[in-house]
Amino acid sequence: MRRFVFFALAAAIILFSVIVNSAPAPKKVAYITIDDGPTLNTPNIIETLKRHKAGAAFFVLKDRIETYPDYIKMMECGGFTIGLHGVSHNGNIYAAPTSPLNEMNETNEALYKLLGRRSMVVRTPFGSKPNLTDRQRELLETAGYKIFDWNVDPRDSIGKIVDKEAVLRNLKKGLEDAGPTAVILLHDRKSTADNLERILTLIEEAGYEFGTLDEDTVF
Ligand SMILES: [Zn+2]
Repeated sequence: MRRFVFFALAAAIILFSVIVNSAPAPKKVAYITIDDGPTLNTPNIIETLKRHKAGAAFFVLKDRIETYPDYIKMMECGGFTIGLHGVSHNGNIYAAPTSPLNEMNETNEALYKLLGRRSMVVRTPFGSKPNLTDRQRELLETAGYKIFDWNVDPRDSIGKIVDKEAVLRNLKKGLEDAGPTAVILLHDRKSTADNLERILTLIEEAGYEFGTLDEDTVF
């Protein structure tokens, strides 16, 4: 009997250690976000994202919705999130307590005219911190908007000529610092479109799965 107890105990310990060791590692999720579009580079960006089965959220500007309506539809058809980035894309958006809300509402109307629906996902230009005042944030949130910043900035939009290798280095370092949840700031511009294949490959090789940021995403 004592022997049986011993074997039963040993079996239980082995089984327990097998279960513990086979538990999946915590998931690493990368959320691609692409600001300032759409532009003529959008189709190329979408094609590369699709090839990697990567979701993305595009934070779009009002005048560019109106200039490139077909590219907004392309985002919609591809299952990407369309978020709002405003009208002025300069300091004016932060000028008054109501100006961020007004700019997002105005951008939303342009989207509604095109798609028959609105978006509640927002990124304010240059990030909400430290730009949005508490009052501005409160007005946006009371209207139902969800505000998203980022925690990885590969600096793909600094200056006219972007050093693609530096962007990849910044991204690698940014992912290491961000840990299992990475919200990556990219921009809708040619240098990023041309570099996107390598950007996405680097993210995959770092062990991340792609997630799509949307209004249900909670960090
Ligand atoms: Zn921007």
